Amino acid sequence: MEVIRATTAGFCMGVSLALKRLDEAIAQHNAEGRLLMLGPIIHNPSVLEHYKQLGVLCAGSLDEVRPGDTVVIRAHGIPRSVEDTLKARGARVVDATCPKVKAAQLAIARATKGGIPLWLFGEAEHPEVRGLVSYAEGDCCVFSDPAESRGVICNESQPVVFAAQTTQEKAVFQAIAEQLRQRCPKLHVLSTICDATSKRQAEARDIARQVQLMLVLGGFSSGNTRRLVDVARAEGAKALHVENLAELPLEELAGYDRIGLTAGASTPHAMIDEVQALLEGLSCPAPR
Ligand code: SF4
Repeated sequence: MEVIRATTAGFCMGVSLALKRLDEAIAQHNAEGRLLMLGPIIHNPSVLEHYKQLGVLCAGSLDEVRPGDTVVIRAHGIPRSVEDTLKARGARVVDATCPKVKAAQLAIARATKGGIPLWLFGEAEHPEVRGLVSYAEGDCCVFSDPAESRGVICNESQPVVFAAQTTQEKAVFQAIAEQLRQRCPKLHVLSTICDATSKRQAEARDIARQVQLMLVLGGFSSGNTRRLVDVARAEGAKALHVENLAELPLEELAGYDRIGLTAGASTPHAMIDEVQALLEGLSCPAPR
């Protein structure tokens, strides 16, 4: 079987950096206090299992944090008030927020200074989005669907800031911005979408046009991974999203002779290598 693997598949800069910070925190950790992450540091179950084996705890909420704990902030960032509470509680904070997410948080804080409202294109319940909106000084409106943006009420004389979750599709964001600008002339658009995401999506689009099936590897809770599936499907390709090797429907996959392979930003390269080797070892259908 021929496998076209995306060169952009796997860990991005932000994820690599966050895991490096966590590794350093593990190396420096002494017996006093516990070492924990507040929510999963990245959205990949096998990576989280690896750190669990190393003794890193995962706190589901602030209530689980005790004075003296070392808390590693996830790559997606956390709300401002949560970080303040962690410090006030006597926890040692290791900030592993991706620099691009941090830049988006600070850009939102600057642009909304004085109470300018924020409109944000993203998934309201996503941890990164909860963090981003916490930096806004004015009211916030989050929408995940371009159709929802048509419902937002605009006042021609009111300045509004428009930004996006870093992993959203750039073309969709720009189309929404264009549509909003017609109704809201004082719209200030922030470019918060990460280039790594745009490049990964562009490559997925390109590969999807050349293959019979696009295999997308990554955590089911990873927003950027799910969007790769959408991007491939929008090109008319069949797309399959799996979290790990064990989920591969090998019998079905053996029926294809050319498969595309990409992965989300929190998928380890070793896992992609394994899947690629397994796919390449599958027999192609016999010629008719
Ligand atoms: S996809 Fe971009 S914004 Fe998100 S963690 Fe990676 S580098 Fe950072």
